[in-house]
Amino acid sequence: MILDGKALSIKLKAQLKQRIDHASIKPGLAVILVGDNPASHVYVNHKVKACSEVGIHSERYHLPAAVKPEDLKKLIDDLNLNPKIHGILVQLPLPVHLNTQAVLDWVDPKKDADAIGTFRMGQLLIGNQQIAPCTPSGIIALLEQNDFPVRGKHVVVIGRSTIVGKPMAQLLEQKNATVTLCHSKTENLKEYTQTADIVIVAVGKKHLLGKEDFSHRSIVVDVGMHRLDDGKLCGDVRTDEIKGFVKAYTPVPGGVGPLTIAYLLQNTYVLSQEQR
Ligand code: NAD
Repeated sequence: MILDGKALSIKLKAQLKQRIDHASIKPGLAVILVGDNPASHVYVNHKVKACSEVGIHSERYHLPAAVKPEDLKKLIDDLNLNPKIHGILVQLPLPVHLNTQAVLDWVDPKKDADAIGTFRMGQLLIGNQQIAPCTPSGIIALLEQNDFPVRGKHVVVIGRSTIVGKPMAQLLEQKNATVTLCHSKTENLKEYTQTADIVIVAVGKKHLLGKEDFSHRSIVVDVGMHRLDDGKLCGDVRTDEIKGFVKAYTPVPGGVGPLTIAYLLQNTYVLSQEQR
């Protein structure tokens, strides 16, 4: 079975558009891109386009890779005070001379659209969040909408980044899953993945996992996103091998990616309502 993230994202965006059409204020999102990472350009274009589809006002800021930290901070400070902007997203990765968490923490928590600043992450940790990081939120929605509730299930998350792995594990735990968080130092990874009910792969290594890592019972969520030489996209999992073998899997593209964007829009709407 294919877990169709694209179809779910279309449904979520249609529902959100209705809510925005009836809202008393128009939500606004600022997207900040630093440098010329080609993949980041593509992601930012998709995010800005998705805003216009649901009626969110969007502003896009592109700064040079060598931007001085104080200039980036000045932009974020201005956006923090801009009443037309309710959500701010800093596209990652940032150039290495910038301290990523410090930059994320310049965003006012009230406007932290991806919810990965220290304040929002702290709220997530204590289970008091209004919004959660976009990619993990989308994955929970995809599993629930396909009648794969995580309650009581053993879920293996591979990857412990602040943007995906850690908040993913946290959300799953809140949903009463039994969670194992694996990473680059995990020994015998296969022992965990083969016996899990659900495996969420967020490593960032092309085609790392294949049939031998899973079982017929596995539900596989592939977060990885890589562009091949022929221009096509692929994930961290060798999808061709697991088709027809595992119980369910997400395709790349058309799996997790569209839901990340849908939840960015959703979070922006929630923030606009909070600030109203
Ligand atoms: P990251 O590089 O910050 O983290 C990767 C994690 O993988 C690390 O915690 C590391 O410990 C772990 N890891 C590395 N090698 C490993 C190995 N051999 N075995 C087990 N664990 C290993 O990456 P990230 O930001 O979490 O992103 C991961 C992937 O997901 C990337 O391909 C990224 O492009 C993609 N991504 C996709 C979306 C989307 O919307 N589809 C969103 C965010 C990230």
